[in-house]
Amino acid sequence: MITRKKVVLLGATGSIGESTLKVIRTHSDKLELVGIAANKNLKKLSEIASEFDVANIALFDNDAFVEAKTSGAFRPGTHLLQGMDGLEELASLPECDTVLVAVVGTLGLKPALACIEAGKTLAVASKEILVLAGKFVMAKAREKGVSVLPVDSEHNAIFQCVHGEQSRHIEKLILTASGGSFRDLPLNQFANVTLEEALKHPNWDMGPKVTLDSATMANKGLEMIEARWLFDMDPSQIDVVIHPQSIAHSMAQFVDGSILAHLSPPDMTFAIQHCLLYPERDAGVVDALDFSQAMQLDFRPPEKERYPCLGLAKQAMQAGGIATGVFNAANEVAVDAFVNHQIGFIEIPQIIEKTLESIDNIEPNSIEEVLEYDRQARLRASQVLAK
Ligand code: MG
Repeated sequence: MITRKKVVLLGATGSIGESTLKVIRTHSDKLELVGIAANKNLKKLSEIASEFDVANIALFDNDAFVEAKTSGAFRPGTHLLQGMDGLEELASLPECDTVLVAVVGTLGLKPALACIEAGKTLAVASKEILVLAGKFVMAKAREKGVSVLPVDSEHNAIFQCVHGEQSRHIEKLILTASGGSFRDLPLNQFANVTLEEALKHPNWDMGPKVTLDSATMANKGLEMIEARWLFDMDPSQIDVVIHPQSIAHSMAQFVDGSILAHLSPPDMTFAIQHCLLYPERDAGVVDALDFSQAMQLDFRPPEKERYPCLGLAKQAMQAGGIATGVFNAANEVAVDAFVNHQIGFIEIPQIIEKTLESIDNIEPNSIEEVLEYDRQARLRASQVLAK
């Protein structure tokens, strides 16, 4: 009898969480879910807990935690945890092997570090972890000898392409991007796009924030920054190309000019399964590409005028320090404002640019400082927005 790999899933009720559950359901002989966390979706969390017989549960929201305690939503004997302490405890659960962090926003940062500190494999989905604190997270992982496995499809693709290669042989990483909802919209129509139009992603089924970030390509900007830390690259070694079909999930170019790409249908279970079973492989949840059907793969460079967020992210990545965190914070504030109909779509990059310009860049010395600068950047972005 093989021992199953024990998985903790932070962000169990979100879109990545759902795909992760599909993988664990398909490979229940190899994977066991031992801990789950969500912000406050008690109903969904209790359904997951009973289906997978999960013993350790964390709710970030205090009201939801109190309701869980009093309502008997989980079976007797359930280890029920709350807040950031609860997420951190779950991430360092003694019996767990791999922690998949897919919580929203910066909340994943401390649990990710707790996971590394405890010597567990970190499967990272939340972009903020590396965008804000890539330097600290990767240094800690090296110190502890912990693997950081990328769940994001682009980084997972690159991880598979560079596996076993020497880093001095890698010339650059090429992230593919779908181009989002407005990749073919005439530029003169951007001023009038609506929230509903922006939320229609051509290829991927994702949460609203990522879908909007995909339309502006702020998402690809964040992914460039993640890639830089994950693969220890210089910012100049990261490129982006538009690939409308979302079949080639990213590529690595080597010094001899060879380029390797990773291909699969656009479904997150491929990357998630790769992380959870790594270094093993097994049959996928979804069928592989079918070359008995004709298909086309197109590539084209992203237009600067269409995607100003991409250029701003590149500048922030080159500047380093807190600039990448400021880019992320200002983008979140701006996207929120767009969702709440306070600003138009084309004002999103303007808010980010003005916020970046208004902050003196410095090099943070600790995670506490990173989080403090994140708070300040949000405040500053709100002030820029109010003007
Ligand atoms: Mg991605």
